[in-house]
Amino acid sequence: MAAASLLRFDERVVIVTGAGNGLGREYALAFAKRGARVVVNDLGGSVSGDGSSNRAADTVVDEIRAAGGTAVANYDSVVNGQAVVDTAIKAFGRVDVVVNNAGILRDRSFSKMTEGDWDIVHQVHLKGSFAVSRAAWPHMRKQKYGRIIMTASTAGIYGNFGQANYSAAKLGLVGLSNTLAYEGAKYNIHCNALVPTAGSRLSASVMPEDYANAMKPEYVAPVVLFLCHESCEANRGVYETGAGWVAALKWQRTEGAKLQSAESSISPEKVRDVWDSINDFATASTVDSMNGTASLAASPEANVQQFD
Ligand code: NAD
Repeated sequence: MAAASLLRFDERVVIVTGAGNGLGREYALAFAKRGARVVVNDLGGSVSGDGSSNRAADTVVDEIRAAGGTAVANYDSVVNGQAVVDTAIKAFGRVDVVVNNAGILRDRSFSKMTEGDWDIVHQVHLKGSFAVSRAAWPHMRKQKYGRIIMTASTAGIYGNFGQANYSAAKLGLVGLSNTLAYEGAKYNIHCNALVPTAGSRLSASVMPEDYANAMKPEYVAPVVLFLCHESCEANRGVYETGAGWVAALKWQRTEGAKLQSAESSISPEKVRDVWDSINDFATASTVDSMNGTASLAASPEANVQQFD
């Protein structure tokens, strides 16, 4: 393929959170290789979110610079999103792309899960992604350009044993992504959710070694780069990827049953009697927006002016 058609990021400033290890490291290296100036954010703590160190971020910044690229380190927790974005503005004067990737795990069965396990996972994944994106938002709005990635998980989409805290936060990120996509559209800010699978220190406890080898983080990075390129029109998407496979996800809704009418009212018995057909996906359709749901008469587009 001609070099001219390569997807480049010259002049772009990219923040990758949690870029000191695993997937984030691959994203940072790949963006830098294609000309981006990169903020390598990493708190440098353990998988469970304890401790901190500059080493993780510094190592990746050194790797990027050694390869001739441009990067600066930031060691703040993503919860302190303003500080992460300030690093980009101070070093490079702008921010074009935010890849919300930092993450931890506190896996336990629900019966053993503490409030602390719940809170810290929500802080890092959900609050952290909010905080960094919120701090970048005014810059993106002003320049009428931005690309944001929220990192979700199959655990959030489908559920997984031992991950009640994590799965709730991860599906929360899909909701956040969907709404930012609406609010950002007119400023050319696109937001998409990524559902990656890759061998990393985070997945080491649940992934056998040969499986992890087939699921290299470098197979995920190209998907993130495409989604974050100025030529990519994707917005409000959810993309599942791993091992070099990429797919799009959407909700499905069954035809349903209307059980209330002027002549007769909905009742528990009526619900019971048509339960099989309510759950019959044979004639289900994909659902793309709140339009057509029972609860909202107006479209989200109609809400834009009200909340803008
Ligand atoms: P990883 O542990 O290799 O890397 C995560 C990085 O985030 C670490 O370097 C860590 O220090 C950093 N980090 C943690 N808390 C932070 C904070 N508060 N502020 C800044 N940095 C922080 O994990 P990974 O597998 O590369 O995961 C990256 C993302 O992908 C996570 O959001 C994870 O939940 C998600 N994910 C991964 C998989 C997988 O199969 N690896 C699957 C689904 C989702």
